[in-house]
Amino acid sequence: MICSNCGGEYAETDLFCPFCKKENEIMAEKIKQAKYQQLVQEEREIKALPQKRMAKSRKMILIIASVMVVILVIAIVGSLISGKVQAKKEYEKQSEYMTVLEDYYQAGDLEAMSNYIDENDIFQSKYDKYYKLARSYDYYISLTECIADFTKMTEDEFFPTWEEAQKEELCISNIYFATNYGIKACKWCREGIEKYGEIDNVEQMQKINDQCIELLMNQFCYTEEEIEEMCALEDVTEKNLTPYCEQAYATWRETVE
Ligand SMILES: [Zn+2]
Repeated sequence: MICSNCGGEYAETDLFCPFCKKENEIMAEKIKQAKYQQLVQEEREIKALPQKRMAKSRKMILIIASVMVVILVIAIVGSLISGKVQAKKEYEKQSEYMTVLEDYYQAGDLEAMSNYIDENDIFQSKYDKYYKLARSYDYYISLTECIADFTKMTEDEFFPTWEEAQKEELCISNIYFATNYGIKACKWCREGIEKYGEIDNVEQMQKINDQCIELLMNQFCYTEEEIEEMCALEDVTEKNLTPYCEQAYATWRETVE
């Protein structure tokens, strides 16, 4: 490199002439060009940056969406399968209920039937044939328990020191509960026979109805007319039944004395 100012010779890569300190114009131009190129490159990179980011976030969105679609598909398929499994289980459970209840029904084991219904919370209308029969039976059993209590209560030693009035009150209260259960059983049976007769439990319902009437008549001296009147009551309440119970107690006292 020959200096254009002093004619001295120096290396092409030197920025200045070592003799007169004049700038090496060729080198300066090269540096300028390099810097310019660098700036252009930087500008390009800066411009490309958001696009790169956008491309990156698009990719992310796509991945997330795909994952969500996969999860959704799994959830739908899963719920369909579990729904089917559930339905199958439910169907099996209900078939089992039917089988067991029908077995008890055929065997006439109403106590077992009633317990089974309670244990398994069976109440849907498709089990009406068994449900109504079991509930009528429960009332019938309660009636027999009241009668057992009444018998015990009316034995002389049950009231050794009690006033006669208390004895009377307690007896009438017992007669009320017995009558309540008996009439409810009858009403339930009759409604069952009338409304659900087609489901083939008429015979057993009728039997419970007749047993209740027989017990009420024999134990508490009700007449058939009185029982029919009570069965015809819209509401079986204490207020509605008490006149009948008081009458029954009076009649019972007469027969005992
Ligand atoms: Zn020079």
